[in-house]
Amino acid sequence: MTTKKFPLQKIRNIGIMAHIDAGKTTTTERILYYTGITYKMGDVDEGSTEMDWMEQERERGITITSAATTCYWRDNRINIIDTPGHVDFTAEVERCLRILDGAITVVCGVSGVQPQTETVWRQGDRYHVPRIVFINKMDRIGADFFASAESIEKKLHAKTALLQIPLGKENEFRGVVDLIKMRSIVYDTDELGATYRDDAIPEELRELALQYRGKLLEVVAEEDEELMEKYLESGDLSEADLRKGLRKATLSLALVPVLCGSAFKNKGVQLLLDAVIDYLPAPVDVPAIEGIGVKTNQREKREASEKDPLSALAFKVWNDPFVGQLTFIRVYSGSLEAGSHVYNANKDYRERVSRLLHVHANKWEDIGQVHTGDIAAVVGFKKTGTGDTLCDENEAIILERMEFPDPVIYVAIEPKTKADQDKLSSTLHKLALEDPTFKVHIDSDTGQTIISGMGELHLEIITERMLREFKVQATVGKPQVAYKETIRKKSDGEAKFIRQTGGRGQYGHVKLSIEPAPQGSGVIFENNLVGGVIPKEFIPAIRDGIIQGMETGILAGYPMIDIKATLLDGSFHEVDSSDIAFKIAAVMAFQNAAKQAGAILLEPMMQVEIIVPEEYMGEVIGDVNARRGRIESLKSKSGVQIIMSKIPLAEMFGYSTSLRSMSQGRGTFSMEFKEYNEVPNTISEQILARVYGH
Ligand code: GDP
Repeated sequence: MTTKKFPLQKIRNIGIMAHIDAGKTTTTERILYYTGITYKMGDVDEGSTEMDWMEQERERGITITSAATTCYWRDNRINIIDTPGHVDFTAEVERCLRILDGAITVVCGVSGVQPQTETVWRQGDRYHVPRIVFINKMDRIGADFFASAESIEKKLHAKTALLQIPLGKENEFRGVVDLIKMRSIVYDTDELGATYRDDAIPEELRELALQYRGKLLEVVAEEDEELMEKYLESGDLSEADLRKGLRKATLSLALVPVLCGSAFKNKGVQLLLDAVIDYLPAPVDVPAIEGIGVKTNQREKREASEKDPLSALAFKVWNDPFVGQLTFIRVYSGSLEAGSHVYNANKDYRERVSRLLHVHANKWEDIGQVHTGDIAAVVGFKKTGTGDTLCDENEAIILERMEFPDPVIYVAIEPKTKADQDKLSSTLHKLALEDPTFKVHIDSDTGQTIISGMGELHLEIITERMLREFKVQATVGKPQVAYKETIRKKSDGEAKFIRQTGGRGQYGHVKLSIEPAPQGSGVIFENNLVGGVIPKEFIPAIRDGIIQGMETGILAGYPMIDIKATLLDGSFHEVDSSDIAFKIAAVMAFQNAAKQAGAILLEPMMQVEIIVPEEYMGEVIGDVNARRGRIESLKSKSGVQIIMSKIPLAEMFGYSTSLRSMSQGRGTFSMEFKEYNEVPNTISEQILARVYGH
């Protein structure tokens, strides 16, 4: 049992991000191998990798869930958070980025930066995640290190610092020239445990190496005045200065160090691990985490220190067939012991920490304590879901919540047998704790169990997992689109809720106005009351009433979004007024206003990326138009067309089948939820007719 505290400077919490097929899984595998965690190297193609142990992932060949794996390199602890590469699962990527301190981006050396890399790169920028790039597949025909590096500058708008140049090309690829040490790193074999030796730079590469070293010195010096002075004076920088400057510039996101290799041929991965330690941040290198104090209701900070009260974020709930439910947490401050209790600030609930584990791919190790900056899996939590904060109850804090989009699609699900019925709800509950974009509820009209999520594939995967992992058989209905409603006009509403039925009565009186708010703003509430028209203590109840009023839209009962509500006036009664009376009055006033506000129906729009060989482009584009889609960009690349478009989700059901038949099975696509847009009139009429059954 390792209870020993690990120096904070020697921890790296990193993710590996990549376009699908760039080699993320292979690279992760090799990292686990070289750090001594796995002794038998799995092979992606045979579907036996350590990280992707979920059967389905192997079959689909994509990484859907994320797991955290701990390994060691040069006396440092590296926690690798596995991030999914598929665009359908960007919510998962965002969730991971939130708890990472740094990342490796794997780019394929043949194709360079691909569209999905751009998406995750932008997310990395948004969360201020320092990155290093590994240009992989240098052994493949057509691999081009310099062109790939240029695509990072051009497409990702990142300033690169090339730390290496390749030694040999394609099947002659045998190592790299390290531009910091100005030495060759040569791998004489392709074997798994490949060792390398340090050698002089071959004569034919000397000039190129000098040229690129010059560039490296320049970009590093440009980011630091002191280094610039030294560089201008001596025309050179020491190894120590160069590393220091690189680290600083990487942490501030000014530079992106670029390395290369071939994960598959076991070349360059050890140097990548060195770069993780040398240039990516330790938990103390990133700004202190902020949140909202539960008692103070003010912004508070927690420093990455054992002395600060405990604060930790649950970022993944995972049902392991052997250990049971594991909750992965990232500790930002303080520490936590196995056998203790901890407070979940979001659920106002005390959880027991039965065991604490470090997970090494598919093995685990009991640790007695988890300290600041580290990642661990907890056994024993009951109610904690993804995104919840765990903390010291006396110094309770809610760390910035991760934002997850509401589900855009739903289906009814029914157990096949009585035995399945008993297991269905507990299974769905477990799956919903794991995945915040997956929701379960019972329809109050029909009594059916409804599950909702981010797309057809998402719900398909969930139902498959129910069957495989939990052995629950269920029939799933036809997927339905989750429409929403909003308003187009400003309008006022007023309502009084008065009851006088003996004893204490009820009195609430609210006057408000509502108006359209910008897309994505949900609900905005403003209190414009003057003086003591309504006592302050009732305002939260009025706000709750407005939110409740928005839950059932007046057109067809879909939830309303993007509305600003302003509280204008009202009155109260000394004795009879209560929270509940004001809440009911607010619901009524809101709905009165909504009736005259020009309500409209909104539908989820998907960002769809379709890749097809040129010859099918015409037909595919025609079909996108027929689906009410809009083409946003067309790019051609080595014989294929990349079509970016925005298409209503309602028109995307069964698209994989149509695309297959349109392109003789050669087209592929991926999609993700983009935004809600107004439904055109004629379509809206059809939807409303269906809702009202005529
Ligand atoms: P992921 O989708 O990013 O996780 O990519 P994988 O690691 O699953 O790799 C995709 C495919 O590329 C697999 O067939 C790998 O064997 C292959 N691959 C990965 N790295 C390399 C490499 O360095 N060289 C070559 N030639 N193939 C590679």
